[in-house]
Amino acid sequence: MARRGRLIPGRNPAGDRKAIGASTPRPGADPVQENTDNMKHSISHWTRDTALAVHDLPLMDLLYRAQTVHRETFDPNTVQISRLLSIKTGGCAEDCAYCSQSARNGANLPASKLIEVERVVAEARKARDGGATRFCMGAAWREPKARDMDTLVAMVEGVRALGMETCMTLGMLDDSQVKQLSNAGLDYYNHNIDTSERYYSDVITTRTFADRIETISRVQEAGIKVCSGGILGMGEETGDRIDMLVTLANMAPPPDSVPINMLMPQANTPLADAEPIDPIAFVRVIATARILMPRSYVRLSAGRSEMSDEMQAMCFLAGANSIFVGDTLLTAENPEEDSDAVLLAKLGIQAECPEERTCAEATA
Ligand code: SF4
Repeated sequence: MARRGRLIPGRNPAGDRKAIGASTPRPGADPVQENTDNMKHSISHWTRDTALAVHDLPLMDLLYRAQTVHRETFDPNTVQISRLLSIKTGGCAEDCAYCSQSARNGANLPASKLIEVERVVAEARKARDGGATRFCMGAAWREPKARDMDTLVAMVEGVRALGMETCMTLGMLDDSQVKQLSNAGLDYYNHNIDTSERYYSDVITTRTFADRIETISRVQEAGIKVCSGGILGMGEETGDRIDMLVTLANMAPPPDSVPINMLMPQANTPLADAEPIDPIAFVRVIATARILMPRSYVRLSAGRSEMSDEMQAMCFLAGANSIFVGDTLLTAENPEEDSDAVLLAKLGIQAECPEERTCAEATA
């Protein structure tokens, strides 16, 4: 039977973490411990140095610390399961170097139209019956057009009516679009920062890092939870990975959900021949994310199909507690659902279930 409830009772102050201020470690104090302690009191001010000190701990110490932090807020044997549906594929005006949906890259993925609300709701129902608690809808857009907003609102309302959490990723949003989605009850908005501010322009030139932060701020101000993370293996340096995590951790509040993707090189994109990231380096970033953002869901996102069972288990040990299921993530491959169910069963990990409904027996 799937476990009910997602957080250890009495240990989840997520609802009262809004007053986040800056804190500088006391002179002579252990900056790693100091910042970890501060996080328990909803204060976050990580610097590259303090975050790097976490990241560079001996691996066993890092994993121990990450798992300890993880257990203070979350059930360590539960993962949140999301399913992602592409509601509009290809033909995107942006030039994200990792993406086969960009019209500017050479992948030539055909552009589709926004799909019908009925199809979205039918897919969400299937996802719910298969154990997913959150349904994410992604459109390959620079930003939504005014004419699409009514359809997007109907999608949110239809999926919410199934008792699922809703998430959308639609590109940049203006104030009025945020308001419409908020009024429809959208739970999460995904807008990844992708990498560090320094490395960002090596990956994307059609919008700035500041544009991304602005959309995230708008979404947060409207009370919609934020899902934001990035991609590893795009040629960035360790310092870029750390800076990306520091940017996320110092948001007020940090994102509720932090997807960490491993680049899945897509044919004919500028990053088609990118060197794969070392698995231990990937695990270090997961553990660092867990310590810097102890109350956020850290999601293993794209790239799982290239990870061994052992690597995924290590990521869960490091504090990852959310996954996408389904055969494809927009256009990148994802593990087959059967293999997810087998892996989670082997690890004794169960699907998180919101209190308000009974979840399916299946774990994935
Ligand atoms: S990642 Fe999103 S915004 Fe960037 S090109 Fe792909 S679909 Fe467009």
